[in-house]
Amino acid sequence: MTDCLFCKIALGELPADIVFQNEDLIAFRDVNPQAPVHVLIIPREHIGSFADAASEHQGLLGAMCLAAARVAAQEGIADSGFRTVVNNGEQALQSVRHLHMHVLGGRRMGWPPG
Ligand code: AMP
Repeated sequence: MTDCLFCKIALGELPADIVFQNEDLIAFRDVNPQAPVHVLIIPREHIGSFADAASEHQGLLGAMCLAAARVAAQEGIADSGFRTVVNNGEQALQSVRHLHMHVLGGRRMGWPPG
């Protein structure tokens, strides 16, 4: 989508601190980190949220989960523990309407989320 921030990052039209990418996904550091490690994993294809995903996206969604584990290992937080978060829609406080998985770690987390 032309007016989508994360589509622009996926197309290289906006800068990002990329930590991993392949033909389907990009992982880059969050500009406003909420933990010592805070990476976002996005599909290159525009999908608004999980609510917009279709059965054809099953492999892509699985690849996002595997990429989260890969990023955690790469960032040195696989053993200490990490959290993956996907905010979907208004009440979950999704602010960018392009599906993204947060990977957070490097500090002790709280539960439940606020
Ligand atoms: P959410 O609130 O789940 O939609 O998360 C959106 C995330 O995107 C927030 O944590 C923002 O800090 C982050 N963000 C917004 N713009 C950028 C950007 N240009 N580069 C990296 N992260 C961004």
